[in-house]
Amino acid sequence: MTSMRSFWAVRKLVYRRSFRAPCLSGAMSAQSRFSILGFRSIGVLAAALIVALANAAAHPWVEDRLIQRGQENSVITLGLVSDAVDQAIDRFKPIPGLVARDPVFGQLLEEPRNQGLVPFVNEKLRHLSGTAEVTEIYLIDRAGQTLAASNYREADSFVGNNFSFRPYFQDALSGETAQFHALGTTSGERGFFFAAPVLDGIDVQGVLAVKVTVDALEEAWNGVSSDVLVADGNGVVFLSSRQDYRMRSLAPLSQGARTQIIATRQFPLDVLTPIPFSTNLVGESAVEVVVDDGTERLSYLAASQPLTLPGWHSIVLAPLEPIRRQVLYRMGVGNLTATVLALIGLLIWQRRARVLERMRVQETQKELLEGMVATRTADLDAANIQLRGEIAERRAAEERLRRAQKDLVQAGKLAALGQMSAAISHEINQPLAAVKSYADNAAQYLERSQPQKAEANLSRISQMADRMAKISGHLRNFARRPGDALGAISLNDVVAEAIALMEPQLKHSECEVIFIPSEEALHVLGGRLRLQQVIINIMTNALDAMTDAKLKRIEIALFPGAETVSLHVRDTGPGLSVDTLGQAFEAFYTTKEAGSGMGLGLSISFNIIEDFGGKLTAENHPNGGAVFTVTLRSAEVQSPMVAQ
Ligand code: ADP
Repeated sequence: MTSMRSFWAVRKLVYRRSFRAPCLSGAMSAQSRFSILGFRSIGVLAAALIVALANAAAHPWVEDRLIQRGQENSVITLGLVSDAVDQAIDRFKPIPGLVARDPVFGQLLEEPRNQGLVPFVNEKLRHLSGTAEVTEIYLIDRAGQTLAASNYREADSFVGNNFSFRPYFQDALSGETAQFHALGTTSGERGFFFAAPVLDGIDVQGVLAVKVTVDALEEAWNGVSSDVLVADGNGVVFLSSRQDYRMRSLAPLSQGARTQIIATRQFPLDVLTPIPFSTNLVGESAVEVVVDDGTERLSYLAASQPLTLPGWHSIVLAPLEPIRRQVLYRMGVGNLTATVLALIGLLIWQRRARVLERMRVQETQKELLEGMVATRTADLDAANIQLRGEIAERRAAEERLRRAQKDLVQAGKLAALGQMSAAISHEINQPLAAVKSYADNAAQYLERSQPQKAEANLSRISQMADRMAKISGHLRNFARRPGDALGAISLNDVVAEAIALMEPQLKHSECEVIFIPSEEALHVLGGRLRLQQVIINIMTNALDAMTDAKLKRIEIALFPGAETVSLHVRDTGPGLSVDTLGQAFEAFYTTKEAGSGMGLGLSISFNIIEDFGGKLTAENHPNGGAVFTVTLRSAEVQSPMVAQ
């Protein structure tokens, strides 16, 4: 019971725990989902923050790089602009000197009123301006008066104009080749002026001047994406790709510059307003120029380079807006790429985190299961130890039982021996006492010379001896070893012989025997004499039982079966008591008075029939009386066998 209880305890433990495990795993996976969601939000925020920080860090670098590239482009543009201006000046500068060598100009200067020569010179100048690709060429006398000009035909012809205020005239008059730039007082066009003296030997007769407008130069810059400015030594923007910057100053003009401009009538001062520039440093070394005219505010990346002309600079203003847009675009692309990469990284990290979480849960479950297995194993071990203890206890109990049984058998043997001794001594003492008394009496009879009486006593002594021999015979039979040879015997014959042997007692008891032999031989396996002894035993008992019965009858019947034959012996006695039904075949069981029975008859008979491989049973007949049934195995008889 204990072991079963512990077994069920273990089972319950296992079921309870195995039922709990899925609950635990469910709870853990919900928890892990929650933590993964939390991690995801934190991860997204962290990734966004990292991307934003990375962008913020990368922004100046990207801007620097793009500004640098813009500056490189500006430097190229500056080079082109400077070259173009320098080349133009270099190209046109020598022209007045070369042209002035023609004596016709000196001739006209000598004879300014030579009406035949004036048209000729005018035409010559017109022709030369076309050949030299200059805007105008004109001849000025020493007083500054223009005598002839290539535009003599035009309404705004220079002829008759006095240019004595122009520095180029004054320089040339002093024998120098001269150069100047200004807004034309007649044409209102900006132009470069080049002048050379017209010499007569070493005397300066007059001045030959060339004017070149700047339109062609500026037109060449139209295709440049940046704004191009060329400023003179006073900071006046003389040339520019942007019309609104032309003839304006980079900064407010100094007083000296203003005086000079007025004196030379270089520019009308009222137009020379400063362009609203302000400058900042951008990137590492670049200059940002902001133009804020009140309506719009524009930023430029500025680059400048000095020209060959003293104090002159070329300036390139590259709009910063496209560069900044480019920076933003690149940052956006960078952002997008970084965000995508961060998201991919986050996804990978989450996946890894989920795998790790799953592994952690599995590990926990494994540990739990291992714990359960360990507990279960411990419980089983305890149950095993308990079982082993119980087995040992049971073996010890069995051993004790065996010893007790042995003791009981021994005690039974002793009891049987005691019973037997009592029975034997009882059975033998009585005849012995009788023998003694008969012998004593016989001796007295002989002394009294009564030999007949002594003889009678001797005869009784002999009977007593027979009786004692019979008792010892019973005991021998009881102690006899089974296993004597069996043979086929005719049941009809054995019963008939037994009845014949019983004849004297039957007659004495006035008992009727009814036996109708079977028509068949009915051979059974057994020993003839021993079977006779059994039948006589049963019949003797029947006679004893019917001592007081009114009707004394023994019915013997044979019933052949398939493989056995049954012999029924029924009497008309009182039948078997309940005690007798239970113990009739036990040795020394008797209900008879001492000296009348030893209780061995049925026990011996039972053993004999068992030796034959048959059965002996006892019961009460429904109509009264006892019925003893001997069942024996049928025997096929070839040749009659003799069995004792
Ligand atoms: P014994 O005859 O010496 O007593 P048995 O073993 O032959 O010993 O018989 C045992 C007992 O069975 C008898 O004492 C008797 O009480 C009972 N018994 C045997 N046969 C009959 C019978 N036909 N009717 C009633 N009792 C019987």
